[in-house]
Amino acid sequence: MDTKIPYKIYLSENEIPTQWYNVRADMKNKPAPLLNPGTLQPLTLDDLAPIFCEELNKQELDNDTPYFDIPEEIQNFYKMYRPSPLVRAYFLEKALGTPAKIYYKFEGNNTSGSHKLNSAIAQAYYAKKQGLKGVTTETGAGQWGTALSMACSYFDLDCQVYMVKCSYEQKPFRREVMRTYGAKITPSPSQTTNVGRKILSEHPDTTGSLGCAISEAVEAAVTQEGYRYVLGSVLNQVLLHQTIIGLETKKALDKYNIKPDIIIGCAGGGSNLGGLVSPFMGEKLRGEADYQIIAVEPASCPSFTRGKFAYDFCDTGMICPLAKMYTLGSQFIPSANHAGGLRFHGMSTILSQLYHDGLFEARAVEQTQVFDAAVQFARVEGILPAPESCHAIRVAIDEALKCKETGEEKTIVFGLTGTGYFDLYAYEQFNSGTMSDVIPTDETIATYLAKLPKVDK
Ligand SMILES: *Cc1c(COP(=O)(O)O)cnc(C)c1O
Repeated sequence: MDTKIPYKIYLSENEIPTQWYNVRADMKNKPAPLLNPGTLQPLTLDDLAPIFCEELNKQELDNDTPYFDIPEEIQNFYKMYRPSPLVRAYFLEKALGTPAKIYYKFEGNNTSGSHKLNSAIAQAYYAKKQGLKGVTTETGAGQWGTALSMACSYFDLDCQVYMVKCSYEQKPFRREVMRTYGAKITPSPSQTTNVGRKILSEHPDTTGSLGCAISEAVEAAVTQEGYRYVLGSVLNQVLLHQTIIGLETKKALDKYNIKPDIIIGCAGGGSNLGGLVSPFMGEKLRGEADYQIIAVEPASCPSFTRGKFAYDFCDTGMICPLAKMYTLGSQFIPSANHAGGLRFHGMSTILSQLYHDGLFEARAVEQTQVFDAAVQFARVEGILPAPESCHAIRVAIDEALKCKETGEEKTIVFGLTGTGYFDLYAYEQFNSGTMSDVIPTDETIATYLAKLPKVDK
């Protein structure tokens, strides 16, 4: 072990950042505005008010303010589980025999088991401050629902979660964690909303999708007084809150004068990746430094690598705003990939614009390859990673192995977004050799892309 760098680089409690960083302030090409689905005009604060919390809407639409103060109550909550460690993967490096130096930022050290709590607590705080009774949301793999349940119970808010049906069935224990924190869970699509009933009548056997659960949660929010809808990824505000990950990472690296060459994150809706890379991307955008940044997505839901940069609905029910993003089409329902958190058809508009402008690259990886990396990592680093996180591990290992061939001593940093204790069904399939890779054909993708809304922007 290189004794100069500790196995875990911890910041002290008073080094936790007290502001979030808004990368949009440094973007020359700003992300395209969200459009009102009825008028196709850019959304205003008034349009957003019935759906989302007031203060969050301001964050959503603000392309110019570089830093937002983190309210003291949120800072205090962060202290329960932050700072999260930046770990030098000495044992993985040794197992791979690579000269590369690998670091991972571990966000799984809280009961929700993922980075999602960073934004959940912020969103619950603003809902409470506005005097709301509660919030509604969807959850795919269950991590977001769990995080939000914890955050809502902390602020004594009602929490209604629409959980994608296949996850609801595959992950009964996640459901129980949410119920323990007082949340109400409904499998989606359900008979409780108009949009759910419509989808069920058209696709009675569907196992659900995030897009569909979003439609139901939005409908539930706008039809109950004192409720708003909150979302665990994709939105600018979520990416903003998640910059706590990147800001801590940068501070820890700076302490030891470490400059990463490659930064890797898995991409579902883009919030952890965006949060991790924002401070580094800021330097890149300002011309102060350069980094290779890699987004990793599942081959079963390849928004960046095979999607189209276009305006699309964020939900299957087509009631949500339109976002200009890399999308596979709002009607695309990916195969039941085990990385439930990476099954969204679209992508953050911020990341989409940055990707479009060539500021980072993207790779799609197959599920069995991802679990190969998962097992390799678990055995040497002692953490059972979430399947989503393993997408980043896969590419980190691939890059480290390239260094082994070339002899380059690159510094690789990746986001380890969570733990996989509720994903043992997936691990079981992998360990039993029954896991398969489902990759959509070009024809399938073309069919869904042909259905994109016609927007002249
Ligand atoms: C939700 C989730 C992701 C993907 O979401 P992003 O918004 O793209 O970050 C990744 N990892 C874990 C563990 C998750 O729960």
